Amino acid sequence: YLIICCFIVIITSQVKAQSQDAAILRKVDVLLNKMTLDEKVGQLNQYSGKVMTGPANPKKNDLETEIKNGWVGSVLNVKGARGTREVQDMAMQSRLKIPLLFSLDVIHGYKTTFPIPLAEAASWDLDAIELSAHLAAREAAASGIHWTFAPMVDIARDPRWGRIMEGAGEDPYLGSRIAEARVIGFQGRHLGGTDAVMATAKHFAAYGAATAGRDYTAVEMSDHELWQTYLPPFKAAANVGVATFMNSFNTFNGIPATANSYLLRNILKNKWNYKGFVVSDWNSIGEMLIWGYARDKQDAAFKAITAGSDMDMEGSIYRKNLVTLVKEGKVNIALIDDAVKRILYKKYELGLFDDPYKFCDEAREQQVLNDPQNRVAARAVAEKSIVLLKNENQVLPLTAKVKTIALIGPLVKAKRDQAGAWNVNQDTTEIVSMYDGVLSAVAKNQQLVYAKGGTVQRSSEQDIAEAVSIAAKSDVVIMALGETFDMSGESKSRANIELPGDQQKLFDAIEQTGKPIIVIIMGGRPLIFNKIADKAQAILYTWWLGSEAGNAIADVLFGKYNPAGKLPVSFPRSMGQIPLFYSQTNTGRPYNNEANKLYLSSYIDEQNTPRYEFGYGLSYTTFSYSDLKIDKPVLSTGDSLRVTFKITNTGKYAGEEVAQLYLRDEVASVVQPVKLLKDFSKVMLKPGESKTLVFIVNKEKLSFYNKYMAWVTEPGNFKLMIGSSSDDIRLKGSFELTDGK
Ligand code: BGC
Repeated sequence: YLIICCFIVIITSQVKAQSQDAAILRKVDVLLNKMTLDEKVGQLNQYSGKVMTGPANPKKNDLETEIKNGWVGSVLNVKGARGTREVQDMAMQSRLKIPLLFSLDVIHGYKTTFPIPLAEAASWDLDAIELSAHLAAREAAASGIHWTFAPMVDIARDPRWGRIMEGAGEDPYLGSRIAEARVIGFQGRHLGGTDAVMATAKHFAAYGAATAGRDYTAVEMSDHELWQTYLPPFKAAANVGVATFMNSFNTFNGIPATANSYLLRNILKNKWNYKGFVVSDWNSIGEMLIWGYARDKQDAAFKAITAGSDMDMEGSIYRKNLVTLVKEGKVNIALIDDAVKRILYKKYELGLFDDPYKFCDEAREQQVLNDPQNRVAARAVAEKSIVLLKNENQVLPLTAKVKTIALIGPLVKAKRDQAGAWNVNQDTTEIVSMYDGVLSAVAKNQQLVYAKGGTVQRSSEQDIAEAVSIAAKSDVVIMALGETFDMSGESKSRANIELPGDQQKLFDAIEQTGKPIIVIIMGGRPLIFNKIADKAQAILYTWWLGSEAGNAIADVLFGKYNPAGKLPVSFPRSMGQIPLFYSQTNTGRPYNNEANKLYLSSYIDEQNTPRYEFGYGLSYTTFSYSDLKIDKPVLSTGDSLRVTFKITNTGKYAGEEVAQLYLRDEVASVVQPVKLLKDFSKVMLKPGESKTLVFIVNKEKLSFYNKYMAWVTEPGNFKLMIGSSSDDIRLKGSFELTDGK
């Protein structure tokens, strides 16, 4: 009965969605028929509205005129219920009263700042990630925003690249699950509510593979690498209905992504049958002139619209050239109509034609932005994002026995830095610094002493002497080291990713005091800090944790929260190892190495292993894995395999573990990595408690892209590995697939 009921509910909701779809398409067609060519092109035009927020000036007047003429489809960077209402008013004075879309980079929070995306990825907690995106969307939507330029789903394997902080790390499986969680978090299950915004899967495609980590540079990549590693999170986002895609600044195999018909037409709009629309990146259509791909702006407009870019962000290239191109018969009107329809569809779906001001309610804005649950959630997500890298002699969590705590380092009192790049809320006084967090967590009999020890770049002799004297008076030293907020993010690539400036020198001086040192490392990327990794008693990698950073760090330091984060990206030992990632393929040499071992290719002057591997992260407790059962040794492609195993908390603290499933396809028509993440499960266990976990291995998990980029299975043997990280495999098994499809 229950099954029949569920079936009926699913069918009814599908039928409802289809009829809503048809109804919107009809409305779009009716409107399109009334539009002039200028008005159509206007919908493909997005301008920055920053000028609208300042005092009267000629640019503001120009923009106002364009909007009133119906020549603008979307405005970015205007926010607030009042500000967006004022600008929407202008659109309502246009002939057809087509509402504007207000868009903004809501990357990791709006008023409440959540951890940077890479930090959240370290939680491996899809519910928490979805909630963070949902709350960011709820705040932004209450403040007039319809559309966020997030999530960035670019796979990134090069920590020199500053935008690694904006994504989910190196792995296509983890990246895909996080892409889905973020899209669903931002958009809800259906657009149209007032607590959801449209999301953007960006940057399409392969932007994260910029040569040598230099932002915006060319990407040269095999098709195989594109399909296997870089496309899966985009496909996952498309599958859960992401409203828009954004293209990227880079060229892809010699063609700018913005005018790349292989990416935009062949793959996205044809093969994946994507129905949303594609926005360019900021003036990326115009930048094709600089690349030497377009003769002039008209040529750029022609190439971008033909390839499938629907909306021009800030370039004015479409606005000033498409009308002529159509009139001269160089661009078919059907191309323009298709792009316009995609955009109008979203405006209908959001409900803006029924009420263009539905996101501009100032009373709701006040209530939502001040909702205390936002900060509560930000603290919980921040706790989950912290990764414990080292904990010698269980120096953490700190107990009441520790009487004097020295807080030392340039980032102890940092507030703005905790927001990382892309913070929307300019009022960073609301951010809880590590100092504030620890201060409110210490017991009455505990004393805090503090020395800044210089800046992230420079420590004078005097800074160091002061820090050493403070350390000498304490029972334990907690150092806050790392990057400032402006050292990662867009156009913030670094050739040197060691701990910046004199911070190592500061650490060395404190180390001489012989006091136990706990190091907190903050930053937007994996950094290299080998000496600290060797000598500190404990290390917490806290990235940039947002509004509640200090409280979350204190919760972990004092054991109110047991850290459970796992690295979503490999941490190198040396810069020469970059790009470094766990899912490598074997080499044939050296011969005496055990097959299936990782990192077989070698350097003569460096180990092959990362300093900290993908999936790594400790807890205050320990977990044992046992009782692996694979329900059948042999399966065919239509079947699925049930894998069960037991995890037991063998330590003293309650805690969460992320169990990770890796597979290796032993022989295939395209050489497969020695292991690939295929599933994971996060589980909470009390001390002594055991739970049985289940992974289902089905066709999806056994497939790969063959040399024709077809998603196939092939018969043969698979190795199965379950572990606590990519390099800490606790259980091993194998099975055979009897056929291929
Ligand atoms: C970035 C995009 C961003 C856009 C709008 C560009 O420079 O690459 O990710 O969404 O600016 O701010």
